[in-house]
Amino acid sequence: MTQTSTPASEKVWTLIQISDTHLMDQPELEFARMNPEQSFLEVVHDIQQRFPHIDAVVHTGDLAQVAAESTYQRYLQFMQTWNVPHYQIPGNHDDYLAIFPFYKNSDEAHAISFGCWTLILLNSAVKGRVDGWVEQKQLDQLEQLLLEHSKQYVIVTCHHHPFAMQSHWIDQHRLKNSEALKDVIARHTNVKMVLFGHVHQDSENEWQGVRYLSTPSTSVQFKPLSENFALDQAQPGYRVLQLKDNGEYQTYIQRVVLKQAKINTEISGY
Ligand SMILES: [Zn+2]
Repeated sequence: MTQTSTPASEKVWTLIQISDTHLMDQPELEFARMNPEQSFLEVVHDIQQRFPHIDAVVHTGDLAQVAAESTYQRYLQFMQTWNVPHYQIPGNHDDYLAIFPFYKNSDEAHAISFGCWTLILLNSAVKGRVDGWVEQKQLDQLEQLLLEHSKQYVIVTCHHHPFAMQSHWIDQHRLKNSEALKDVIARHTNVKMVLFGHVHQDSENEWQGVRYLSTPSTSVQFKPLSENFALDQAQPGYRVLQLKDNGEYQTYIQRVVLKQAKINTEISGY
């Protein structure tokens, strides 16, 4: 696992995954009884406090709940003020064909490298559908990118979950050709993990030595193992990845206690 021949480097790359911000077209509007804008800003504030020096933020989709230009423009302005490299892939709620402003060639896989690590972005969103599919063209590109980056440690990202969450309603909306994706990944030894969102909860699977990890939403959480749609009391969160150039890494979920939730609890106590 560890390459001892790699030149010693103390550099640790810090990557943050956020997901499912579900921003509205107006910042004051609520989604599922929560203001997603406020929650997103509190999550980002937490990231900024804990990690003043990060190398990139990757957003794994459902940036917008209301896919309007004003939604994306607000997000974009905010990220530019934050001034960190940021990458976004579309989710089922994003209008990736018309106005999603980040991922212009949505039928293409994209690769970004940090030292000995490479992040590959895939689009699993399909217009008009809640479930996901990665087109054959992108699977071919993924295969090619994995060959080209055979000496790199690779993180693959998409929006939809390739593994069942044991939650009936969510699993109807999974990545429908996940076997095809897993087959490509299993043919290579350089993929360390696959990161995704969509399920609004933390989860972990391992298959053929590759970890498949989901990340909570920055807004509402879905109840794990639930047969029908249900929200969870868990706090929003994000994933932290600390990557060393020798292939070693650490990853974990950081939850954020919202100010708003605290205030509500206090008020309901009266
Ligand atoms: Zn989604």
